[in-house]
Amino acid sequence: MNFDLTSEQQMIKHMIKQFVDEEVAPGALERDRTKQFPVEIFKKLSSLGMMGLPFPEKYGGGGADTISFAIVVEELSRGCGSTGITYSAHISLGGAPIHLFGTEEQKRNYLIPICKGESLGAFGLTEPNAGSDAGGTRTSAKEENGEFIINGNKCFITNASYAHHLALTAVTGEKNGQKEISAIIVPTNAEGFTIMDNYEKMGLNASNTTELVLENVKVSVDNLLGKRGEGFRQFLITLDGGRIGIGAMAVGIAQGAYEKALAYAKERKQFGKSISSFQAIQFKLADMAMKIELARNMVYKAAWLKDQGRLFSKEAAMCKLYASEMCMEVTDQAVQIHGGYGYMKEYQVERMMRDAKLLEIGEGTSEVQRMVISRLIGC
Ligand SMILES: Cc1cc2nc3c(=O)[nH]c(=O)nc-3n(C[C@H](O)[C@H](O)[C@H](O)COP(=O)(O)OP(=O)(O)OC[C@H]3O[C@@H](n4cnc5c(N)ncnc54)[C@H](O)[C@@H]3O)c2cc1C
Repeated sequence: MNFDLTSEQQMIKHMIKQFVDEEVAPGALERDRTKQFPVEIFKKLSSLGMMGLPFPEKYGGGGADTISFAIVVEELSRGCGSTGITYSAHISLGGAPIHLFGTEEQKRNYLIPICKGESLGAFGLTEPNAGSDAGGTRTSAKEENGEFIINGNKCFITNASYAHHLALTAVTGEKNGQKEISAIIVPTNAEGFTIMDNYEKMGLNASNTTELVLENVKVSVDNLLGKRGEGFRQFLITLDGGRIGIGAMAVGIAQGAYEKALAYAKERKQFGKSISSFQAIQFKLADMAMKIELARNMVYKAAWLKDQGRLFSKEAAMCKLYASEMCMEVTDQAVQIHGGYGYMKEYQVERMMRDAKLLEIGEGTSEVQRMVISRLIGC
């Protein structure tokens, strides 16, 4: 066993950490306030070669492993949760399904622009009536004369306003009395395709969360991703990888909140002493440090298993569940350590606490993770 990062992973960590400290964290407060999408940051991430990090070099990717991806998500999220979710969704929901299930031609047409950062990656699964129960998908794709005619609505879709194309799930027919769900790649400029960015969110304000409306959108049957009827299986596999991303985001946001709380505790004086000299505060910080370390190890283990080509669904669900609940707790405690100042936006920990909440909801709620884990442990 070896808990050390490889030299390549260390190099990526060092580079992205410096980038986050200099270019991402300083504007996070303002972007949260103005809801301004971090366009410039993503241009810079493209020039740093980060946008296709875990994908093969022949598609313009970096050929790096999942642990490196987790490190980048963690560091970005430490400085700005909105930047972290944008990047995580770009890779794990946008690029990954095309890489895993796309034909060679689809990879050339759709994965290369993702790796170059010309298009952000997005994935349309959730619908107004199909959230945890994604099998409840109602969006339909009817095949006619070599085309799919797609009608339906998707909600809460990350990055779609900045994507040139995205894979979405739709009902393509019925098989043995069951809906046949397939994934189809749809160009976002297709006629009849409307993307709305109108949500008023609790947090992750600088990230792009959209509603999709598809009215008689026509795409070639060649845009089918993988095999017909495999959409359900594909998104389960896609979400397994995505959960490593959410786990990494949780570790990053928690780390950011912990660092702020530790620094503040050393600075803040009450009763003639710095509050970090009070055991009540020390124990909070000790618990925070311990839980972050545990969650990070869980995320890296799930990523490592994935990189070994081993089964990792259970570990991905466990790391997502533990890390997201840990992040909620740690950000809450970071606000507590800041006292009244923690309630003020300027001190940033309140933003981190708001951003953290999504992690218990997106890519399978905590309840759904417990259902997944229960199934995988043989209940
Ligand atoms: C900011 C943001 C970004 C998102 N990005 C994307 C994206 O890029 N692509 C995408 O497709 N989706 C995205 N989502 C959607 C997200 O994945 C869903 O919101 C999530 O899966 C939950 O679905 P729901 O909101 O319909 O809640 P529901 O499924 O209606 O759940 C409501 C509550 O009921 C519980 N519940 C449901 N079923 C059960 C059960 N069987 N047993 C016990 N409890 C249950 C849930 O755990 C939850 O507590 C995003 C959401 C947000 C808020």
